[in-house]
Amino acid sequence: MVLPSEPEFEQALGELSESIKEFLAANPSYKKAFEVVQVPERVIQFRVVWEDDQGRTQVNRGYRVQFNSALGPYKGGLRLHPSVNLSILKFLGFEQIFKNALTGLSMGGGKGGSDFDPKGKSDNEIRRFCYAFMSELQRHIGADTDVPAGDIGTGAREVAYMFGAYKKLRNEFVGVLTGKGLTWGGSHIRPEATGYGLIYYVEHMIAKACPEYSLNKSETLVAISGSGNVAQYTALKVLELGATPLSLSDSKGTLIAKSTVRGEGFTKEHVEKIAELKLRGGSLESIASEFGSKFEYHAGKRPWTLLPKVHIALPSATQNEVSGEEADALIKAGVRIVAEGSNMGCTPEAIEVFEKSRLAGGPNAVWYAPGKASNCGGVAVSGLEMAQNSQRLNWTQAEVDAKLKKIMADCYEICLDAGSKWSGERKADVLPSLLVGANVGGFIKVADAMRVQGDWW
Ligand code: GLU
Repeated sequence: MVLPSEPEFEQALGELSESIKEFLAANPSYKKAFEVVQVPERVIQFRVVWEDDQGRTQVNRGYRVQFNSALGPYKGGLRLHPSVNLSILKFLGFEQIFKNALTGLSMGGGKGGSDFDPKGKSDNEIRRFCYAFMSELQRHIGADTDVPAGDIGTGAREVAYMFGAYKKLRNEFVGVLTGKGLTWGGSHIRPEATGYGLIYYVEHMIAKACPEYSLNKSETLVAISGSGNVAQYTALKVLELGATPLSLSDSKGTLIAKSTVRGEGFTKEHVEKIAELKLRGGSLESIASEFGSKFEYHAGKRPWTLLPKVHIALPSATQNEVSGEEADALIKAGVRIVAEGSNMGCTPEAIEVFEKSRLAGGPNAVWYAPGKASNCGGVAVSGLEMAQNSQRLNWTQAEVDAKLKKIMADCYEICLDAGSKWSGERKADVLPSLLVGANVGGFIKVADAMRVQGDWW
């Protein structure tokens, strides 16, 4: 059920319903599941009152959308950003249901957050906000009920404050949040997981569609948007493997490397410098001049139209960050693989451009992967953090990384398989739709669990 004016949620719903059309036509009984799954099991809205550094009262809106618990406790991040509203959290919670299903772990889908803007706030203000936020949220969540985590605006510091608040209020040291510090219940690789997982997924896509663009080759050119957690670890993995990242961006503009020679694109030191800047809440604009003449800063622009040559594009900032025209520009620049590190990074117009190119087939076709598949590594390692918390054990970095690789490989196989079955008749040189594959694969798993649990019949 869509309430009036929920544009982002309607977009996410529209994408799923379009993708599962062929499956529903062949399996009409599942139409009821689609009707039921689009209504959240529960939506919680609350007031968050906190004190700023001047002793003044500040008020924000807090939310938790507990969307679906067929596969496990509600699981999903908390977004702290002034744009947050119910439409955005319903879209994110809805996506999360199917994303979590694709990890193969036991997690339902949820999302929450607040219209609080962490930018420009002092550490004390952040702490007071997190404690105020958790003073209400704590009564709705629990290690076996609903396990929040990070998202835009919620990083290690915020998770730590929220965990501290929960522990004080409930007198329980439990795995009620993921993304915790390593020494107090966190998992190795959780900070890196979304970016690393994205690249593990992309490696499978490259191997099938365009092995000539292996990430082990410095000639392979990668456009990345964003400069937060996902973008940083995506760039670092690209560098570790040997390819060349050409762009990073934030809400104010984009920094691009002018040269396409490895070593002259972003380096590990550059990414570390940006990570440190972002921790302080700074903008790329403020340090652009420190990057020297081989880099160029473009105010008010996203990377997609700025690069003359790109092989792989990884939107890793936020929703609707690639327009139809930008998708056209990427195709002109030679892009072959587009995979979202962000949630719903591409607009419907951009997806149409990429899917059309895929259907045209041949050596220049683009292959597009939606975030619910390609960025599921983050929540997957959150699931592994929950498993470690249940055992009160810590796995090694190598163990977690190996499990993440296996989860991304399995997720890719599910998408490929369901995409092959349910994305229409294809010519031999046309790849299956990973969009259809991710949506159908995730939907079947959730719908089947809902049916046996009596959610629909
Ligand atoms: N916010 C991340 C996502 O969009 C991670 C959620 C989690 O770890 O629970 O998947």
